[in-house]
Amino acid sequence: LTEELKALRELPSETLDGEHIPLYANTGLISDLTPTRESGAEGIGLYRTEFPFMIRQRFPGEDEQRANYRQVLEAFAPRPVVLRTLDVGGDKALPYFPIEEENPFLGWRGIRITLDHPEIFLVQIRAMLLASAGLDNLNILLPMISDVSELIDSLSLIHQAYEELLEEGQDIRMPKIGVMIEVPSAVYQAGNLAKRVDFLSIGTNDLTQYLLAVDRNNSRVAELYDSLHPAVIRAILQVVDSARVHDKPVSVCGEMAGDPAAAILLLGMGIHSLSMSVSSLLRVKWVIRNLSRERALAILSEVLVMEDVREIRRYLNTQLEEAG
Ligand code: PEP
Ligand code: MG
Repeated sequence: LTEELKALRELPSETLDGEHIPLYANTGLISDLTPTRESGAEGIGLYRTEFPFMIRQRFPGEDEQRANYRQVLEAFAPRPVVLRTLDVGGDKALPYFPIEEENPFLGWRGIRITLDHPEIFLVQIRAMLLASAGLDNLNILLPMISDVSELIDSLSLIHQAYEELLEEGQDIRMPKIGVMIEVPSAVYQAGNLAKRVDFLSIGTNDLTQYLLAVDRNNSRVAELYDSLHPAVIRAILQVVDSARVHDKPVSVCGEMAGDPAAAILLLGMGIHSLSMSVSSLLRVKWVIRNLSRERALAILSEVLVMEDVREIRRYLNTQLEEAG
């Protein structure tokens, strides 16, 4: 890191016109907590709970999970932490829960598995709620929602777990709940989803894969995989606009949030916060501190008339160079 970037660590993530865009970290590892705190991240925008499930020989029980989530929540309290419910399937396999499918990315993954196995979901939600006792920084995020009914079912299970814990005399509060927008159908349902939850978080890794029909892990088609594709940009804009109608904040937690060129566009669209791997944080903060919302909006309008992803990237890189 250059000295200039390091100096940014202590400085606020604010645009030139004084708008605060919180920058959060993506993680799934307890060992990352200290470096993440030291990176200047204002919280955890995506904690992938699959990792603690992957390193075991069986499903971790309520106490094990609770201890894990407690460490994450405590490390950042009172700053926000977003715990995502189990998102296995697709490219993330559990050795003790084999899934054989022709098309895993279109198959049984994320919320589809946990809704078919409410006992797994309920243990995880109970562990999250219990871990949050006395802290007020838990947010729960639901992955791979492709239909409003999945959200309704998830919410009903979350309320069930919450009520049960209250009856057991636990001193817990209802956390904020969010939905990941990472499947094209969710883009077109964003308003209906947003009105039922507290926030939306766009998972651009999967959203790009599904919108462009390009496997995110296949090097043969890697050149076709680009989150700056005009279709992806339009989709994100539509999500932000739909959520605005219901006055709900939208964040981006895919890799795109850590791309300085993309950050300009997301800022222009009115994204409320960005969550990324810690290694991208200072570069994105630098972009935010060197742009006004007005300038970002002007750049976005230019990009919205472009038809080619290469043209978009070239143009954004020029803008980055001009900003310094
Ligand atoms: C995403 O899909 O953009 C995302 C953040 O989730 P994951 O990378 O864990 O699938
Ligand atoms: Mg995803």
